[in-house]
Amino acid sequence: MHEYSVACALLDQIEAAARAHDATAVKVVHLALGAQCGVEAGLLTGAFELARAGTVAAEAELSIRPVPVRWVCPRCGGERPSGAPLVCPDDGTPARLEAGDELILERLEMEV
Ligand SMILES: [Zn+2]
Repeated sequence: MHEYSVACALLDQIEAAARAHDATAVKVVHLALGAQCGVEAGLLTGAFELARAGTVAAEAELSIRPVPVRWVCPRCGGERPSGAPLVCPDDGTPARLEAGDELILERLEMEV
């Protein structure tokens, strides 16, 4: 299951950060999750709850901030509305994905 390996990779990052801060426990994990990153929030939460057992984040809550998809023209900076063709109407440049494909560990609330 894809989400499970994502959760394990996250926990590796979390444990490394907790060690670096001498934390005894992680309370809340804040995550930015792009709408087009290929990971579904509900599945990731379920996988995280399985994978966290026995780690420093065993009782951590997963707080997910959804990031909407945003396409921008790299030439003129014009934003492409969702559902619109991904080519700029002004200069014909293909749009670039600016946001929405990320999965970022933003912040941890830890007990030290
Ligand atoms: Zn343009």
